[in-house]
Amino acid sequence: MSDSAQTDLVTWLDEHQPSAPPATGLRSHSLWPTLREYLRVETTGRHTRLELRDVPAALAADALAIRAPCVACGALVQPVRSRRPPGNKRRDNPTAALYLAVTCTLAQRLGCSRGKAASAEYARIKAEVTP
Ligand SMILES: [Zn+2]
Repeated sequence: MSDSAQTDLVTWLDEHQPSAPPATGLRSHSLWPTLREYLRVETTGRHTRLELRDVPAALAADALAIRAPCVACGALVQPVRSRRPPGNKRRDNPTAALYLAVTCTLAQRLGCSRGKAASAEYARIKAEVTP
């Protein structure tokens, strides 16, 4: 197949794909299958947290560099975040408190993390993690 024919085919396929699925944020990332192994769903009271436990340092560095679209508004966000323990005076361990978020932070855009898209995505993530 010539280069131009191949380009034409790619263009044709792009134009004839069924409508693309909505952006799935982190779950569409190539690191997701690996990260998922470290994910723990932790519930305290009414709050559910998606914590990443015992992530190897190299993986943590890659994970913290991930940018994925916010599931609510599509803005690029950092879905793997590091929670600095309050009043922590020990040497920083960036892998100690990693957690997942699928939307903008509250500071970026108030509505995203509390919307339907966020709760639906969290439900999908939990379904993938819970045995
Ligand atoms: Zn957002």
